[in-house]
Amino acid sequence: MADNWRTLSALAAPAECAAVVKADAYGLGIQRVGPALWRAGARTFFVAHFREAVTLRALLPDAVIYVLNGLLPDLGAEYAALRLRPVLGSTPEISEWSALCRDSGAGHPAAIHVDTGMHRLGLSLEEAVQLSGTWRMLGFPPSLIMTHLACADMPGHVLTARQRLVFADVARRFPGIPASLANSAGTLLGRDFRFDLVRPGIFLYGGVAIAGVPPLRPVVRLEVKVIQVSTAPAGETVGYGAAQRLKRPSRLATVSIGYADGLFRAAGSSDAAKGVEAVVAGRRCHLVGRVSMDLATLDITDLPEHAVERGDTAVFLGDGISVDDVAARAGTIGYEVLTSLGRRYARRYVGDGYVGD
Ligand SMILES: *Cc1c(COP(=O)(O)O)cnc(C)c1O
Repeated sequence: MADNWRTLSALAAPAECAAVVKADAYGLGIQRVGPALWRAGARTFFVAHFREAVTLRALLPDAVIYVLNGLLPDLGAEYAALRLRPVLGSTPEISEWSALCRDSGAGHPAAIHVDTGMHRLGLSLEEAVQLSGTWRMLGFPPSLIMTHLACADMPGHVLTARQRLVFADVARRFPGIPASLANSAGTLLGRDFRFDLVRPGIFLYGGVAIAGVPPLRPVVRLEVKVIQVSTAPAGETVGYGAAQRLKRPSRLATVSIGYADGLFRAAGSSDAAKGVEAVVAGRRCHLVGRVSMDLATLDITDLPEHAVERGDTAVFLGDGISVDDVAARAGTIGYEVLTSLGRRYARRYVGDGYVGD
């Protein structure tokens, strides 16, 4: 992951490469991810929630920390005390931050978010244009003017080009304030999209950012124990709902992972569709039947007899299986696979000076 950040940072230069570590660093654990990215060289971080920012501040006393979901009512003093920078995307938020800064006589930096077509968060263009004439009277220095791309992962989407043009016009109206448009996908779209600061998330964590553009190095490996090996005759069914009927005499390996661990039910197998694969004894094997809460079953019939025993390892991520492979089988995206990784795995952080937990 640190390597991935360095790769993106070199690509983005002279723009600054920040790091998005919301949702517990995309499920990978902010406690380790935050400091590792800092050691790699990241100085600016984005989280979504105030609570996440509080956690990150304790880990990284000198980092610049932006809170993407903005300013929550009446929490301004706490943001300021921890030197957190809310991403302000509405007039009430800006007024509240402005009042807080004036009352306390201290201009705490904050970002301004402008909506350029996603209609999720941010000032309207009219509001942004109006603000561009008055921001010097706000009582705080906007430290970043930003927007977010809706379709950067879809090559050639018309909205992406339109958002870039609209944002370039808005950013010009705030001279001297750094501008930021690009998430991971945006960063890959070229110099025109990078402005002064890029905000990659998924690409740092080894996920696909743009369909067809190979990801950087995989970051997560997920190993699971085989807890029972068994056989079943053709015609029998496997798992809840008897959703898959065996077409041949089969050998099965039941593994200790389920939907409570983030292996989506939608990733299971049925007579109609094949679910995810795992690597067992060097070979890819499909799930058979539904995913239960704590268990799933693999078809190991094609492996030599006795190749798999109780206690062996099945690899669900790694050995050529990516988060995006799993996502494709479950009808979702790599982001959801990562952020759904369960809480009861033993997590071991490897590299960058750490081997622990
Ligand atoms: C999540 C997020 C990012 C990072 O997006 P990736 O696609 O993971 O690179 C950047 N900016 C904003 C506003 C976000 O919400």
